[in-house]
Amino acid sequence: MAFKIPFNKPYLTGKEAHYMYQAVYTGKLSGNGVFTQKCQKFFEQKYGFKKTLLTTSCTDALEMCAILCDVGPGDEVIVPSYTFVSSALAFVRQGCKIIFADSMDRNPNIDAEKLESLITPKTKVIVPVHYAGVACDMDKIMEIANKHNLIVVEDAAQAIDSYYKGRPLGTIGHLSAFSFHETKNIISGEGGLLGINDERFIRRSEIIWEKGTNRSEFFRGEVNKYGWCDTGSSFLPSEVISAFLWAQLESLDDIQNKRKNLWRQYYAGLESLAAKGYFRLPDIPSYATNNAHMFYLVCKNLEERSGLIKYLKEHDVLSVFHYLSLHQSEYYTTHYSEIPSLPNCDRYADCLVRLPMFYELKAEQVDYIVNLISNYYIK
Ligand SMILES: *Cc1c(COP(=O)(O)O)cnc(C)c1O
Repeated sequence: MAFKIPFNKPYLTGKEAHYMYQAVYTGKLSGNGVFTQKCQKFFEQKYGFKKTLLTTSCTDALEMCAILCDVGPGDEVIVPSYTFVSSALAFVRQGCKIIFADSMDRNPNIDAEKLESLITPKTKVIVPVHYAGVACDMDKIMEIANKHNLIVVEDAAQAIDSYYKGRPLGTIGHLSAFSFHETKNIISGEGGLLGINDERFIRRSEIIWEKGTNRSEFFRGEVNKYGWCDTGSSFLPSEVISAFLWAQLESLDDIQNKRKNLWRQYYAGLESLAAKGYFRLPDIPSYATNNAHMFYLVCKNLEERSGLIKYLKEHDVLSVFHYLSLHQSEYYTTHYSEIPSLPNCDRYADCLVRLPMFYELKAEQVDYIVNLISNYYIK
């Protein structure tokens, strides 16, 4: 290979600068303008959310969820330990106690079968994270949530355009959060989206979004002045970011198809090695679809994974491990006295490795990577 293969490369459709130029020269630069509305309508119409609001990140959308859930000190929130910090952090900022859940054996998603054992009278929220864009067992999670009167916040950061039993991810829980960080399928540099499926949250979400004011109602002409009515922050992105995002959304199908083809090529190329037991391939349960956010292998142990990452790097391919168990983090171990034992989570932290996956990755490069992996195992 003449050049290094990075782990990720942000893809530009070519329309981004054009729409950003439009946003700049129409003179409406702040948030909630034409491009923001177009993006929100796209999500509402294509996937059937009751309401969506663009945010400056998924972390911000999760913070809005935590405020909307009206939780605070004394309340418990169940979060998988194998996730990005923000899934827990948004609720930590509200003063909640985080109860970490283990992953399933078959894939890194939260083990819904073990959820009920974590519920106490203080539990208020469950945060399923759709790892790699592959659905958690949402029927089971919603059944438990309804039985115990809990709010479900889907961390759908990686889950754009992916489905559970035909239902779009992010539209099943009461609230959901998506990310458009440059490492995701659809990007705006930094960016996110709050999805609202329970009508009781709609009015308050707009107020929290607009610095605690009812400016959105004023903007629509529903009230003749606006003022301070609630808590909130400046969660909305500028039109320049929304314009960038709009260019990406217009190419959603093309981007998804391209990624899925690369994903299938990896899978087909590595299937026989997995069948021989060298490693495990991504698991897509029959209730879930694959949005090709990520291609990962699960190695047998930490040493083998470190060896593989090193071997690929020596051959100019950048592969990377993923989350460190949050229940073992510096923050958690210094703030909590009881550290749970979550063996599946720890195994994914030690053994999972992600391979290069981005729009401009070439079929020959996937073949090259597959061959390298084969050489590493069959020496
Ligand atoms: C990327 C990611 C986030 C954070 O998204 P930002 O837009 O960077 O805030 C949160 N949760 C998960 C599972 C993610 O993958």
